[in-house]
Amino acid sequence: MSDENQHFEISKQKDYLYVIKENISLVHPVYTNDPLNIYLLLGSHTALLLDTGCGLSPLKPIIDELIGERKLLVFNTHYHWDHPLGNVEFGEVYIHENEVDLVSKPYDVSYFKDSPNEIVKIYAEQNYLIPPAKTIKSLKDGEVFDLGEIEVKVIHCPGHSPGSICLLTSTGELFTSDVAYYGDQFLPKRENFPEVLKTLSKLIDICEKYKNLEKRNLELYPSHRKYPCDISLLTDLYKGIENIENLWDTKKPFDFFEAWQIDDDKFRYFISRA
Ligand SMILES: [Zn+2]
Repeated sequence: MSDENQHFEISKQKDYLYVIKENISLVHPVYTNDPLNIYLLLGSHTALLLDTGCGLSPLKPIIDELIGERKLLVFNTHYHWDHPLGNVEFGEVYIHENEVDLVSKPYDVSYFKDSPNEIVKIYAEQNYLIPPAKTIKSLKDGEVFDLGEIEVKVIHCPGHSPGSICLLTSTGELFTSDVAYYGDQFLPKRENFPEVLKTLSKLIDICEKYKNLEKRNLELYPSHRKYPCDISLLTDLYKGIENIENLWDTKKPFDFFEAWQIDDDKFRYFISRA
């Protein structure tokens, strides 16, 4: 199934899990983490949509068709532009309490004014201010939502952003948002790396405990590129970020992101200078 203009690519991963993919490089070629993975979980009575994407093409009609009579919950993994810009289509959206204020206001995407890509005219028509959802509700670490035969637990994972969340399901999936994926990494200032590493080690712990208890591995579903992944995504990223201090002299400025760029054999890191 796909929408008329093929903006989204939709695939059914499991009976209860759909992946809706959107290419964010359409907005600006500087973004290479294609696709963005928007996830839709179907419980017996409630569905959960994880992120609403770039706001370039109607998403709600697609979701309505997939969920049937179920109630819908909409979560944002975090506030970065490629995750919440479709929020306005949905009446009510949840995000971690640290980022409620950020997505309650019109979202300023004026940094795309100079994009060479034609699709940004959709943002230009809105004066580069994308309206928010009518109601924004806050999520807290440890909160559990019952979708009917699937329970979803919110895990606060600060580092990539102050209110990043991951979701752990009772069916054995860990949605890792932008906290972990294979692709370009957007990291906070170097002095905040301990928080990033603490979050990754918390997730590694969750994977190990799950394996000991359930005798099988959690499947990791990141918000960008490849899925499902396994625990090695977390350990690769942990080792890579820990090693950045040894590569610090190789850093190059990357002005579009106000960042330092450092590459190793697995990842390209953009470390905030702002
Ligand atoms: Zn992000």
